[in-house]
Amino acid sequence: MTYYCPFCHNPVDPSQRNVWQKESGWTQKRKAGGTNALALRKAEQEWAHPGCVTLAKDGLLGQVRLG
Ligand SMILES: [Zn+2]
Repeated sequence: MTYYCPFCHNPVDPSQRNVWQKESGWTQKRKAGGTNALALRKAEQEWAHPGCVTLAKDGLLGQVRLG
C-alpha cells in the first residue's frame, strides 16, 4: 500500500523518520479561543512529509518549491 502526501502528492513512507500521521478527534467549542485537548483521538491512514507539514503550517505551501 502506497500513501501519498496530501500536500505535494508524492509517495510517503510511513516508516520514515519524522513523517506526520493525520489524526482526527473531538474538541469542545468555547466562546474564547485557546487550545483544547483533543478527545477520542483517532489515527488516520494519512501521512505527510515533515517538510510539507512545516510549510503548510507556516502558510508557505504553494510558494516554495520542494526539492
Ligand atoms: Zn509531501
